[in-house]
Formats: sequence, structure tokens, C-alpha cells
Amino acid sequence: MASIFSRIVSGEIPCYKIAEDENYLAFLDINPLAKGHTLVIPKKETDYIFDIGDDELAGMMVFAKKVAHGIKEVVPCKRIGVTVIGLEVAHAHIHLIPINTIYDMDFSRPKIKLSPEDFTTISNAIANKIG
Ligand code: AMP
Repeated sequence: MASIFSRIVSGEIPCYKIAEDENYLAFLDINPLAKGHTLVIPKKETDYIFDIGDDELAGMMVFAKKVAHGIKEVVPCKRIGVTVIGLEVAHAHIHLIPINTIYDMDFSRPKIKLSPEDFTTISNAIANKIG
């Protein structure tokens, strides 16, 4: 069965899209640690990130870099933190999270609540920066 992220790629499930190209897609995490918390995925479904081929994995990080610059232009923060967990969704993804302290990367913290309008505003603003 296709992963939930493959169903986003196919358009079956909606997302707050940030950027995409032929191979990769970035969209807002629906249960974010911070405004602008974004997931970067390969369109081709692979569960474990370190099972992805070298070129595809390298391309994913270069794509994530472009997305991270866009997030940083929109969300005030010191850095965009990068992490991979992958315990919940079996489709490789990179988390990009605006951070000011190390605690901002703590996934055991309560998530923030955003309205659909907030998600739309943030995703459009970041998408416009990336172009
Ligand atoms: P993990 O696999 O542990 O890295 O966690 C999966 C992440 O995907 C979590 O942060 C979820 O909030 C996020 N997530 C799950 N389903 C969706 C969805 N349909 N749209 C956006 N983010 C999602």
C-alpha cells in the first residue's frame, strides 16, 4: 500500500505545499514543532532514508537546502535545524525546523496549533520566496 506521503505526491491527499521538482516535494508538517516546520521527501517511495541511492540522497539534501533558505527568509530564527526520525511514516523525509535553541528540536515537546489559514499563509509565503 502506498505511504501517506506517496498519496500526497499523487494528489490523493492534500498538503500545504512549499516546493517541488521532478524528484522531490516539500510541504508543511501538519503537526509542527514551530511555524514553518517542513518535510522534504523524495517522490519515489523508500522507507529508510539510508536505503536511498547516493545521487538521489545527495539531490534531496540540495533540494532541502533551497527550501531551508526560503523558510529562514519567512520565519525569524537563528537556524533551520535538520533532522531525520522516520519512526511514524515509512517514507523517508527530512524535517526542517526553525530553531533558536537546542530545545526547539525536541520532538517530545507539545506541538503548536495552527489554523488552516495559518498553514496556508506560511506555506504561500515560503513558496513565494523559493519561487
Ligand atoms: P517521523 O516519521 O517520526 O519523522 O514523523 C512523521 C512526521 O510526519 C510527523 O512530524 C507528522 O506530524 C508528519 N505528518 C504525518 N502525516 C502528515 C501529513 N498528512 N501531512 C503533513 N505532515 C504529516
